Amino acid sequence: MTETLEQKEGPATELRRIGHWIGGQPVTGESGRSGPVYNPALGVQTGEVDFASVEDVDRAVAAARDAFSAWRAVSLSQRQELLFGIQRLVRDRREQIAKILTDEHGKVFSDALGEVQRGLEVVEFACGIPTLLKGGFSEQVSTGIDVYSIRQPLGVVAGITPFNFPAMVPMWMWAPAIACGNTFVLKPSEKDPSASLFVAELLKQAGVPDGVFNVVHGDKVAVDAILAHADIAAVSFVGSTPIARYIYEQGTAAGKRVQALGGAKNHMVVLPDADIDMAADAAVSAAYGSAGERCMAISAVVAVGDAGDRLVEAIKERLPKVKVGPGTDPESEMGPLITREHRDKVASYIDHGSEQGARVVADGRETTPDGDGFFLGVSLLDNVTPEMDAYKDEIFGPVLVVTRADTYDEAVELVNENPYGNGVALFTRDGGVARQFQFDIEVGMVGINVPIPVPVAYYSFGGWKSSLFGDSHIYGPEGVNFYTRGKVVTSRWPDPATSKVDLGFPQTR
Ligand code: NAD
Repeated sequence: MTETLEQKEGPATELRRIGHWIGGQPVTGESGRSGPVYNPALGVQTGEVDFASVEDVDRAVAAARDAFSAWRAVSLSQRQELLFGIQRLVRDRREQIAKILTDEHGKVFSDALGEVQRGLEVVEFACGIPTLLKGGFSEQVSTGIDVYSIRQPLGVVAGITPFNFPAMVPMWMWAPAIACGNTFVLKPSEKDPSASLFVAELLKQAGVPDGVFNVVHGDKVAVDAILAHADIAAVSFVGSTPIARYIYEQGTAAGKRVQALGGAKNHMVVLPDADIDMAADAAVSAAYGSAGERCMAISAVVAVGDAGDRLVEAIKERLPKVKVGPGTDPESEMGPLITREHRDKVASYIDHGSEQGARVVADGRETTPDGDGFFLGVSLLDNVTPEMDAYKDEIFGPVLVVTRADTYDEAVELVNENPYGNGVALFTRDGGVARQFQFDIEVGMVGINVPIPVPVAYYSFGGWKSSLFGDSHIYGPEGVNFYTRGKVVTSRWPDPATSKVDLGFPQTR
């Protein structure tokens, strides 16, 4: 392992300089611009990450472009073997990756391990690349003529990722992208950049050729350089809705293929016949896990009919038991938020909610651990209506809102009118209603008595409405399609004796 990795294990008091990874090497940025990286549990800065200039991005893209023609020619079986090697290395080093996530993101270690595991499942899916790239073949479409379809890589593709899953979301992109024969430039979140560098070293160790996987850190300058770069064929983005929209508009205007996954406001509809204890367990787990900083977190419970009072009481009972503390403490169930500013913004929704008429059932500020960490205890707001900010905004923190609905139809209407459409869950004992819900609901990922329905790696992940810009969901079969383009070959090996000039349009009969 190179110096970059060793530095991560150095004393926390020294500010680590975090650079780029270009052409199989760590590269120090030359822009003179950089940003702070924190340990959110301690509330102290631990690193300084280089922000890429346009020239830094150019260098990474040039390395990827240079590596492309050799990489796309590597046989499927060799690519598969490399992917198996990557899978083994990521699995063997998962605790180190998880530790980096806990240190820079703040999520508790067990959750960080879960993140690596879910990312690894996409790598495992990508190991099936020889099967995934199988095309079609039609023999004898006309006399002596066969037709077959193949899928080929796009070239250099880029990924721009959010802070909340610093290992998993990049894996959703780079694993299928490089398996399909593309080369890759990753621009991870500048808030927790180190996991990407660790993974870059693992890929090198696995034998991935230099230039196939590159990392540039940075902010809007780096992103805009990616969007404008003529040698980048496609961009995958995961992050907030305003930026997703921007990426989609700019990227497609520059002629790129773009999939841009945005923010969310995920509802959990609880019907009166639901098992209220099960629903309350699920609501607490899905709302406060990872401090609510999951794009699939439940942030709004819609309690139908007389489920409301029972459910709010059951959730309230559970809240004092949620252990908030540093992610490195095995007892902790919920860590800090990503930054002090974000923590304060999340906390402000408690006052806004109360001012706008919601009932504050639990105020997380009263249960926030002492110290400088960016912690906030768990909050619950009841009687929240759709006009309130706490309902309208994606809070992205440990504040759960409960909205009451009189009927199933009212609950469905509320969800369908929401501008986001990432995930939704229904809690009921009635299979017929569940089936109707799956039919009615305008959301991309639906859980039936499952609060966080993140699709397994061999399906594809993606929301509807303002949660996704572009046609392609991410990873799974749609990921393979996104990172390849189709070609259809019509082929004849005729007997030269039958060759003649014919100006008519080719027909198959
Ligand atoms: P973000 O949109 O602020 O940042 C995402 C990426 O965009 C980062 O790499 C960042 O550097 C870059 N970026 C930020 N501002 C930019 C700008 N003005 N111009 C160009 N690039 C810019 O998101 P975040 O705060 O890192 O992550 C949280 C958000 O991501 C939430 O909204 C969450 O719902 C969403 N998210 C969605 C999914 C999904 O699958 N739909 C998954 C994870 C996170």
